[in-house]
Amino acid sequence: MKAKKHLSFTVLREMISDRVRSWTDHRRQKSTDHSVHDAVMSALACMFFQEPSLLQFQRSMEECTHQNNLRTLFGVQNIPSSNTLKEILDDQDARLFNPIGKDIVQRLQRGNQLSQFKLIPGWTVCSIDATQYHSSASIRCQQCLTKQHADNPVIYQHFALQAALMHPDVRQVIPVLAEPIQNQDGTNKQDCETNAGKRLIPQLRQQFPRMGLIITGDDLFSRQPMIETVLENKFHFFFVAKPASHGYMMEWLDTYESLHELRDVDDKGRTIIYQWMNDVPLHGGKNAIRVNYFCKKVITLAPDGTQKSCRTASWVTDLEVSCKNVALFARGAKTRWKIENECFNTLKNQGYQLTHNYGHGEKHLSFNFYQLTLLAFTLHQISELCDIAFKACRKKAGSKRNLWEKFRTFINVAVFQTWEQLLSYYLNYDEYNIINGFVVKRPPP
Ligand SMILES: [Zn+2]
Repeated sequence: MKAKKHLSFTVLREMISDRVRSWTDHRRQKSTDHSVHDAVMSALACMFFQEPSLLQFQRSMEECTHQNNLRTLFGVQNIPSSNTLKEILDDQDARLFNPIGKDIVQRLQRGNQLSQFKLIPGWTVCSIDATQYHSSASIRCQQCLTKQHADNPVIYQHFALQAALMHPDVRQVIPVLAEPIQNQDGTNKQDCETNAGKRLIPQLRQQFPRMGLIITGDDLFSRQPMIETVLENKFHFFFVAKPASHGYMMEWLDTYESLHELRDVDDKGRTIIYQWMNDVPLHGGKNAIRVNYFCKKVITLAPDGTQKSCRTASWVTDLEVSCKNVALFARGAKTRWKIENECFNTLKNQGYQLTHNYGHGEKHLSFNFYQLTLLAFTLHQISELCDIAFKACRKKAGSKRNLWEKFRTFINVAVFQTWEQLLSYYLNYDEYNIINGFVVKRPPP
Protein backbone atom coordinates (compact mmCIF):
# COMPACT_ATOMS: atom_id res chain seq x y z
CA MET A 1 0.00 0.00 0.00
CA LYS A 2 2.03 2.93 -1.23
CA ALA A 3 1.27 6.57 -1.85
CA LYS A 4 1.94 7.99 -5.30
CA LYS A 5 5.69 8.12 -5.01
CA HIS A 6 6.41 11.79 -5.66
CA LEU A 7 3.51 12.71 -3.35
CA SER A 8 4.41 10.38 -0.50
CA PHE A 9 5.10 11.99 2.87
CA THR A 10 8.76 10.94 2.80
CA VAL A 11 9.43 12.39 -0.66
CA LEU A 12 7.59 15.64 0.14
CA ARG A 13 9.41 15.92 3.46
CA GLU A 14 12.76 15.50 1.67
CA MET A 15 11.76 18.16 -0.86
CA ILE A 16 10.95 20.55 2.00
CA SER A 17 14.25 19.68 3.71
CA ASP A 18 16.18 20.43 0.50
CA ARG A 19 14.50 23.83 0.18
CA VAL A 20 15.08 24.72 3.83
CA ARG A 21 18.77 23.72 3.68
CA SER A 22 19.32 26.68 1.32
CA TRP A 23 17.94 29.19 3.85
CA THR A 24 20.51 31.49 5.47
CA ASP A 25 21.24 31.53 9.17
CA HIS A 26 20.94 35.22 10.14
CA ARG A 27 21.84 34.84 13.81
CA ARG A 28 24.71 37.02 14.90
CA GLN A 29 26.19 34.34 17.10
CA LYS A 30 25.74 31.24 15.05
CA SER A 31 25.63 28.04 16.96
CA THR A 32 27.00 25.20 14.93
CA ASP A 33 24.87 22.74 16.91
CA HIS A 34 21.55 23.80 15.50
CA SER A 35 20.98 24.46 11.84
CA VAL A 36 18.14 26.45 10.30
CA HIS A 37 16.99 23.15 8.81
CA ASP A 38 16.73 21.47 12.22
CA ALA A 39 14.77 24.41 13.65
CA VAL A 40 12.31 24.63 10.76
CA MET A 41 11.76 20.89 10.47
CA SER A 42 11.34 20.54 14.26
CA ALA A 43 8.68 23.24 14.20
CA LEU A 44 6.99 21.59 11.21
CA ALA A 45 6.98 18.28 13.08
CA CYS A 46 5.25 19.94 16.06
CA MET A 47 2.56 21.27 13.72
CA PHE A 48 2.35 17.98 11.82
CA PHE A 49 1.71 15.96 14.98
CA GLN A 50 -0.13 18.89 16.66
CA GLU A 51 2.08 18.36 19.67
CA PRO A 52 3.72 21.40 21.29
CA SER A 53 5.77 19.16 23.62
CA LEU A 54 7.09 17.01 20.79
CA LEU A 55 10.67 18.25 21.10
CA GLN A 56 10.82 17.44 24.80
CA PHE A 57 9.51 13.90 24.31
CA GLN A 58 11.86 13.20 21.43
CA ARG A 59 14.82 14.53 23.39
CA SER A 60 14.09 12.03 26.19
CA MET A 61 13.78 9.31 23.59
CA GLU A 62 17.17 10.27 22.17
CA GLU A 63 18.69 9.91 25.66
CA CYS A 64 17.33 6.37 26.00
CA THR A 65 17.67 4.98 22.50
CA HIS A 66 20.14 7.33 20.73
CA GLN A 67 17.43 7.72 18.11
CA ASN A 68 14.28 9.77 17.84
CA ASN A 69 11.36 10.30 15.46
CA LEU A 70 12.37 13.85 14.61
CA ARG A 71 15.52 12.40 13.05
CA THR A 72 13.95 9.40 11.35
CA LEU A 73 10.77 11.09 10.11
CA PHE A 74 11.83 14.74 9.69
CA GLY A 75 15.60 14.54 9.11
CA VAL A 76 16.42 16.62 12.22
CA GLN A 77 20.01 15.93 13.32
CA ASN A 78 20.03 17.88 16.58
CA ILE A 79 16.80 18.81 18.32
CA PRO A 80 16.97 22.55 19.07
CA SER A 81 15.78 24.11 22.30
CA SER A 82 12.51 25.93 22.01
CA ASN A 83 14.31 29.27 22.33
CA THR A 84 16.80 28.48 19.56
CA LEU A 85 13.95 27.34 17.37
CA LYS A 86 12.06 30.61 17.88
CA GLU A 87 15.19 32.71 17.42
CA ILE A 88 15.98 31.04 14.08
CA LEU A 89 12.41 31.13 12.80
CA ASP A 90 11.91 34.78 13.74
CA ASP A 91 14.73 35.68 11.33
CA GLN A 92 13.48 33.78 8.29
CA ASP A 93 11.60 35.73 5.63
CA ALA A 94 8.15 34.20 5.30
CA ARG A 95 8.32 34.31 1.48
CA LEU A 96 10.89 31.51 1.63
CA PHE A 97 7.88 29.20 1.99
CA ASN A 98 6.52 30.14 -1.45
CA PRO A 99 8.78 27.82 -3.53
CA ILE A 100 7.66 24.93 -1.31
CA GLY A 101 4.01 25.70 -2.07
CA LYS A 102 4.81 25.94 -5.77
CA ASP A 103 6.64 22.62 -5.75
CA ILE A 104 3.74 20.90 -3.98
CA VAL A 105 1.22 22.18 -6.55
CA GLN A 106 3.46 21.07 -9.44
CA ARG A 107 3.72 17.60 -7.94
CA LEU A 108 -0.06 17.43 -7.50
CA GLN A 109 -0.43 18.48 -11.15
CA ARG A 110 2.05 15.86 -12.31
CA GLY A 111 0.25 13.22 -10.25
CA ASN A 112 -3.01 14.23 -11.96
CA GLN A 113 -4.48 15.08 -8.55
CA LEU A 114 -5.66 18.54 -9.52
CA SER A 115 -7.93 17.51 -12.40
CA GLN A 116 -10.63 16.60 -9.85
CA PHE A 117 -10.48 20.20 -8.59
CA LYS A 118 -11.45 21.76 -11.95
CA LEU A 119 -14.88 23.43 -11.90
CA ILE A 120 -14.95 24.04 -15.66
CA PRO A 121 -12.38 22.75 -18.17
CA GLY A 122 -9.04 24.40 -17.40
CA TRP A 123 -10.29 26.43 -14.42
CA THR A 124 -10.15 25.74 -10.68
CA VAL A 125 -11.77 27.70 -7.86
CA CYS A 126 -9.18 29.43 -5.68
CA SER A 127 -10.79 30.96 -2.63
CA ILE A 128 -9.17 33.85 -0.81
CA ASP A 129 -10.23 34.43 2.75
CA ALA A 130 -8.77 36.06 5.85
CA THR A 131 -8.21 34.32 9.16
CA GLN A 132 -7.00 35.61 12.48
CA TYR A 133 -4.16 33.69 14.07
CA HIS A 134 -3.13 35.98 16.89
CA SER A 135 -5.06 38.13 19.33
CA SER A 136 -3.73 39.38 22.62
CA ALA A 137 -3.87 42.37 24.93
CA SER A 138 -0.21 41.97 25.88
CA ILE A 139 1.80 39.89 23.38
CA ARG A 140 2.66 42.05 20.42
CA CYS A 141 5.21 43.06 17.81
CA GLN A 142 5.78 45.94 15.40
CA GLN A 143 3.67 44.24 12.74
CA CYS A 144 0.60 43.72 14.94
CA LEU A 145 -2.66 45.32 13.83
CA THR A 146 -4.33 47.15 16.69
CA LYS A 147 -7.96 47.40 17.68
CA GLN A 148 -9.50 49.36 20.51
CA HIS A 149 -13.11 49.80 21.51
CA ALA A 150 -13.88 52.75 23.76
CA ASP A 151 -11.93 52.48 27.02
CA ASN A 152 -11.06 48.82 26.62
CA PRO A 153 -7.42 47.83 26.33
CA VAL A 154 -5.77 47.77 22.90
CA ILE A 155 -5.93 44.34 21.24
CA TYR A 156 -2.99 43.21 19.13
CA GLN A 157 -3.85 40.98 16.20
CA HIS A 158 -2.45 39.14 13.20
CA PHE A 159 -4.42 37.93 10.19
CA ALA A 160 -3.46 36.06 7.05
CA LEU A 161 -5.16 36.15 3.69
CA GLN A 162 -5.08 32.54 2.54
CA ALA A 163 -5.51 31.28 -1.01
CA ALA A 164 -6.62 27.67 -1.39
CA LEU A 165 -7.76 25.45 -4.25
CA MET A 166 -11.09 23.73 -3.77
CA HIS A 167 -13.98 22.02 -5.51
CA PRO A 168 -17.58 21.53 -4.28
CA ASP A 169 -17.28 17.73 -4.60
CA VAL A 170 -13.81 17.30 -3.08
CA ARG A 171 -13.53 17.32 0.70
CA GLN A 172 -9.88 18.31 0.77
CA VAL A 173 -8.64 21.83 0.15
CA ILE A 174 -5.12 22.67 -0.99
CA PRO A 175 -3.66 25.87 0.52
CA VAL A 176 -1.37 27.43 -2.09
CA LEU A 177 -0.26 30.85 -0.88
CA ALA A 178 -0.70 33.17 2.10
CA GLU A 179 -0.22 36.90 2.47
CA PRO A 180 0.18 38.39 5.95
CA ILE A 181 -2.23 41.18 6.86
CA GLN A 182 0.08 43.16 9.09
CA ASN A 183 1.57 46.57 9.42
CA GLN A 184 4.50 47.16 7.11
CA ASP A 185 7.76 48.76 8.12
CA GLY A 186 7.74 52.52 8.10
CA THR A 187 3.99 53.07 7.70
CA ASN A 188 1.49 54.23 10.27
CA LYS A 189 -1.51 53.09 8.28
CA GLN A 190 -3.13 49.84 9.34
CA ASP A 191 -2.96 47.09 6.73
CA CYS A 192 -6.27 45.54 5.62
CA GLU A 193 -7.74 42.55 3.81
CA THR A 194 -8.29 44.46 0.56
CA ASN A 195 -4.69 45.65 0.39
CA ALA A 196 -3.46 42.16 1.20
CA GLY A 197 -5.68 40.93 -1.66
CA LYS A 198 -4.07 43.33 -4.09
CA ARG A 199 -0.64 42.02 -3.04
CA LEU A 200 -1.70 38.37 -3.11
CA ILE A 201 -3.22 38.25 -6.63
CA PRO A 202 -0.03 39.21 -8.58
CA GLN A 203 1.97 36.80 -6.39
CA LEU A 204 -0.47 34.01 -7.25
CA ARG A 205 0.10 34.68 -10.95
CA GLN A 206 3.86 34.79 -10.48
CA GLN A 207 3.80 31.55 -8.50
CA PHE A 208 1.52 29.72 -10.95
CA PRO A 209 2.10 31.32 -14.38
CA ARG A 210 -0.10 28.95 -16.37
CA MET A 211 -2.79 27.98 -13.91
CA GLY A 212 -6.43 28.77 -14.66
CA LEU A 213 -7.88 30.09 -11.39
CA ILE A 214 -11.32 31.47 -10.61
CA ILE A 215 -10.72 33.68 -7.57
CA THR A 216 -13.61 33.60 -5.09
CA GLY A 217 -14.02 35.88 -2.15
CA ASP A 218 -16.52 37.80 -0.07
CA ASP A 219 -18.28 41.09 -0.70
CA LEU A 220 -15.19 43.06 0.30
CA PHE A 221 -13.52 42.04 -2.96
CA SER A 222 -16.37 42.85 -5.38
CA ARG A 223 -15.01 46.36 -5.95
CA GLN A 224 -13.52 47.73 -9.15
CA PRO A 225 -9.83 48.02 -8.09
CA MET A 226 -9.74 44.41 -6.86
CA ILE A 227 -11.62 43.11 -9.92
CA GLU A 228 -9.17 44.98 -12.18
CA THR A 229 -6.22 43.42 -10.34
CA VAL A 230 -7.77 39.96 -10.84
CA LEU A 231 -8.37 40.56 -14.57
CA GLU A 232 -4.94 42.12 -15.16
CA ASN A 233 -3.46 38.90 -13.83
CA LYS A 234 -5.58 36.83 -16.21
CA PHE A 235 -7.75 35.17 -13.60
CA HIS A 236 -11.54 34.88 -13.50
CA PHE A 237 -13.58 35.67 -10.38
CA PHE A 238 -16.76 34.94 -8.45
CA PHE A 239 -17.14 37.60 -5.76
CA VAL A 240 -20.07 37.90 -3.39
CA ALA A 241 -22.03 41.07 -4.23
CA LYS A 242 -24.39 42.02 -1.44
CA PRO A 243 -27.31 44.26 -2.50
CA ALA A 244 -26.53 46.65 0.38
CA SER A 245 -23.07 47.42 -0.98
CA HIS A 246 -24.08 47.38 -4.66
CA GLY A 247 -27.10 49.71 -4.62
CA TYR A 248 -26.59 51.14 -8.12
CA MET A 249 -26.17 47.72 -9.73
CA MET A 250 -29.30 46.45 -7.95
CA GLU A 251 -31.31 49.47 -9.18
CA TRP A 252 -30.01 48.82 -12.68
CA LEU A 253 -31.14 45.19 -12.44
CA ASP A 254 -34.59 46.34 -11.22
CA THR A 255 -35.14 48.24 -14.46
CA TYR A 256 -35.32 44.97 -16.40
CA GLU A 257 -38.82 43.53 -16.68
CA SER A 258 -37.36 40.23 -15.56
CA LEU A 259 -33.96 38.63 -15.18
CA HIS A 260 -33.00 35.36 -16.85
CA GLU A 261 -34.28 32.60 -14.63
CA LEU A 262 -33.87 28.89 -14.01
CA ARG A 263 -35.96 26.95 -11.48
CA ASP A 264 -35.10 23.69 -9.80
CA VAL A 265 -36.10 21.63 -6.75
CA ASP A 266 -33.30 20.39 -4.50
CA ASP A 267 -33.10 17.03 -2.70
CA LYS A 268 -34.78 18.56 0.39
CA GLY A 269 -37.79 19.59 -1.69
CA ARG A 270 -36.94 23.30 -1.60
CA THR A 271 -37.45 25.50 -4.64
CA ILE A 272 -34.22 26.86 -6.03
CA ILE A 273 -34.34 29.90 -8.29
CA TYR A 274 -31.25 31.05 -10.18
CA GLN A 275 -31.37 34.49 -11.77
CA TRP A 276 -28.76 36.26 -13.85
CA MET A 277 -28.00 39.16 -16.14
CA ASN A 278 -24.82 39.64 -18.13
CA ASP A 279 -23.11 42.96 -18.84
CA VAL A 280 -24.25 45.23 -16.03
CA PRO A 281 -22.30 48.16 -14.52
CA LEU A 282 -20.73 47.37 -11.13
CA HIS A 283 -21.48 50.91 -9.84
CA GLY A 284 -22.71 54.30 -11.04
CA GLY A 285 -19.32 55.97 -11.24
CA LYS A 286 -17.37 57.01 -14.33
CA ASN A 287 -15.66 54.11 -16.18
CA ALA A 288 -17.63 51.55 -14.19
CA ILE A 289 -16.50 48.08 -15.08
CA ARG A 290 -19.17 45.77 -16.59
CA VAL A 291 -19.77 42.49 -14.79
CA ASN A 292 -22.14 39.53 -15.00
CA TYR A 293 -24.54 39.20 -12.08
CA PHE A 294 -26.07 35.95 -10.79
CA CYS A 295 -27.92 34.88 -7.68
CA LYS A 296 -29.36 31.77 -6.06
CA LYS A 297 -32.58 31.86 -4.03
CA VAL A 298 -33.54 28.98 -1.78
CA ILE A 299 -37.25 29.00 -0.94
CA THR A 300 -38.60 26.87 1.90
CA LEU A 301 -42.35 26.30 2.07
CA ALA A 302 -44.36 25.78 5.26
CA PRO A 303 -46.65 22.69 5.42
CA ASP A 304 -49.62 24.87 4.33
CA GLY A 305 -47.77 25.81 1.13
CA THR A 306 -46.96 29.38 2.11
CA GLN A 307 -43.42 30.63 1.80
CA LYS A 308 -41.57 30.10 5.07
CA SER A 309 -38.20 31.57 4.21
CA CYS A 310 -36.10 32.73 1.30
CA ARG A 311 -32.32 32.89 1.36
CA THR A 312 -30.55 34.71 -1.41
CA ALA A 313 -26.87 34.73 -2.24
CA SER A 314 -25.59 36.90 -5.09
CA TRP A 315 -22.31 37.22 -6.95
CA VAL A 316 -20.60 39.02 -9.79
CA THR A 317 -18.25 37.40 -12.29
CA ASP A 318 -16.46 38.08 -15.57
CA LEU A 319 -17.55 34.68 -16.95
CA GLU A 320 -20.65 34.77 -19.14
CA VAL A 321 -23.57 33.30 -17.22
CA SER A 322 -26.16 31.12 -18.96
CA CYS A 323 -28.82 28.54 -18.11
CA LYS A 324 -26.17 25.89 -18.78
CA ASN A 325 -23.68 27.08 -16.17
CA VAL A 326 -25.52 29.17 -13.57
CA ALA A 327 -26.08 26.28 -11.13
CA LEU A 328 -22.46 25.16 -11.44
CA PHE A 329 -21.20 28.72 -10.95
CA ALA A 330 -23.30 29.08 -7.80
CA ARG A 331 -21.86 25.83 -6.43
CA GLY A 332 -18.34 26.98 -7.29
CA ALA A 333 -18.88 30.39 -5.73
CA LYS A 334 -20.37 28.84 -2.60
CA THR A 335 -17.41 26.49 -2.02
CA ARG A 336 -15.59 29.34 -0.39
CA TRP A 337 -17.12 28.34 2.95
CA LYS A 338 -14.85 25.30 2.67
CA ILE A 339 -11.77 27.28 3.51
CA GLU A 340 -13.46 28.37 6.71
CA ASN A 341 -14.88 24.92 7.54
CA GLU A 342 -12.23 22.55 6.20
CA CYS A 343 -9.18 24.66 6.78
CA PHE A 344 -9.41 27.30 9.48
CA ASN A 345 -11.89 25.59 11.79
CA THR A 346 -9.88 22.38 11.51
CA LEU A 347 -6.77 24.32 12.31
CA LYS A 348 -8.33 26.04 15.26
CA ASN A 349 -10.44 23.25 16.71
CA GLN A 350 -9.00 19.93 15.70
CA GLY A 351 -5.74 20.11 17.51
CA TYR A 352 -3.56 22.28 15.32
CA GLN A 353 -3.78 25.02 17.94
CA LEU A 354 -3.28 27.71 15.36
CA THR A 355 -4.06 30.40 17.87
CA HIS A 356 -2.15 28.62 20.61
CA ASN A 357 0.77 30.74 21.52
CA TYR A 358 3.82 28.92 20.18
CA GLY A 359 5.60 32.24 20.39
CA HIS A 360 5.23 35.65 18.80
CA GLY A 361 8.71 36.96 18.05
CA GLU A 362 9.64 40.39 16.77
CA LYS A 363 9.90 39.91 13.02
CA HIS A 364 8.59 36.84 11.21
CA LEU A 365 8.00 34.24 13.93
CA SER A 366 4.26 34.59 14.24
CA PHE A 367 3.56 34.40 10.49
CA ASN A 368 6.15 31.64 10.03
CA PHE A 369 4.34 29.50 12.61
CA TYR A 370 1.15 30.16 10.65
CA GLN A 371 2.90 29.09 7.41
CA LEU A 372 4.28 25.93 9.05
CA THR A 373 0.83 25.06 10.38
CA LEU A 374 -0.63 25.47 6.89
CA LEU A 375 2.21 23.37 5.44
CA ALA A 376 1.48 20.59 7.94
CA PHE A 377 -2.22 20.85 7.06
CA THR A 378 -1.34 20.63 3.34
CA LEU A 379 0.73 17.47 3.95
CA HIS A 380 -2.28 15.96 5.75
CA GLN A 381 -4.62 16.93 2.92
CA ILE A 382 -2.31 15.32 0.34
CA SER A 383 -2.13 12.14 2.43
CA GLU A 384 -5.94 12.09 2.55
CA LEU A 385 -6.07 12.55 -1.22
CA CYS A 386 -3.51 10.00 -2.36
CA ASP A 387 -1.93 7.91 0.40
CA ILE A 388 -3.83 4.61 0.47
CA ALA A 389 -2.27 3.47 3.77
CA PHE A 390 -3.09 6.82 5.41
CA LYS A 391 -6.68 6.58 4.19
CA ALA A 392 -6.92 3.09 5.71
CA CYS A 393 -5.57 4.44 9.04
CA ARG A 394 -8.09 7.27 8.95
CA LYS A 395 -10.89 4.76 8.41
CA LYS A 396 -9.64 2.55 11.24
CA ALA A 397 -9.40 5.51 13.64
CA GLY A 398 -12.93 6.72 12.88
CA SER A 399 -12.12 10.37 13.47
CA LYS A 400 -9.24 12.64 12.63
CA ARG A 401 -8.81 13.48 16.29
CA ASN A 402 -8.53 9.84 17.27
CA LEU A 403 -6.05 9.12 14.48
CA TRP A 404 -3.65 11.85 15.54
CA GLU A 405 -4.00 10.92 19.20
CA LYS A 406 -2.89 7.40 18.24
CA PHE A 407 0.04 8.67 16.19
CA ARG A 408 1.17 10.94 19.06
CA THR A 409 1.06 8.01 21.47
CA PHE A 410 3.11 5.79 19.12
CA ILE A 411 5.86 8.32 18.46
CA ASN A 412 6.26 8.95 22.18
CA VAL A 413 6.93 5.28 22.92
CA ALA A 414 8.83 4.00 19.91
CA VAL A 415 11.14 5.11 17.13
CA PHE A 416 9.73 4.59 13.65
CA GLN A 417 12.23 4.38 10.83
CA THR A 418 9.80 5.78 8.28
CA TRP A 419 6.32 7.33 8.10
CA GLU A 420 5.22 4.26 6.18
CA GLN A 421 6.34 2.07 9.10
CA LEU A 422 4.23 4.18 11.45
CA LEU A 423 1.14 3.73 9.26
CA SER A 424 1.82 0.03 8.81
CA TYR A 425 2.26 -0.40 12.58
CA TYR A 426 -1.18 1.08 13.23
CA LEU A 427 -2.81 -1.02 10.55
CA ASN A 428 -1.16 -4.31 11.56
CA TYR A 429 -0.24 -4.28 15.28
CA ASP A 430 0.06 -8.06 15.33
CA GLU A 431 2.94 -8.00 12.85
CA TYR A 432 5.18 -5.88 15.11
CA ASN A 433 6.81 -5.81 18.52
CA ILE A 434 8.23 -2.80 20.33
CA ILE A 435 11.61 -3.78 21.79
CA ASN A 436 13.63 -1.21 23.77
CA GLY A 437 11.82 1.65 22.06
CA PHE A 438 12.21 0.29 18.54
CA VAL A 439 9.55 -1.17 16.29
CA VAL A 440 10.54 -4.61 15.11
CA LYS A 441 8.75 -6.76 12.58
CA ARG A 442 7.79 -10.13 14.08
CA PRO A 443 9.29 -13.16 12.40
CA PRO A 444 6.66 -15.20 10.52
CA PRO A 445 5.33 -18.05 12.67
ZN1 LIG B 1 2.58 40.96 16.21
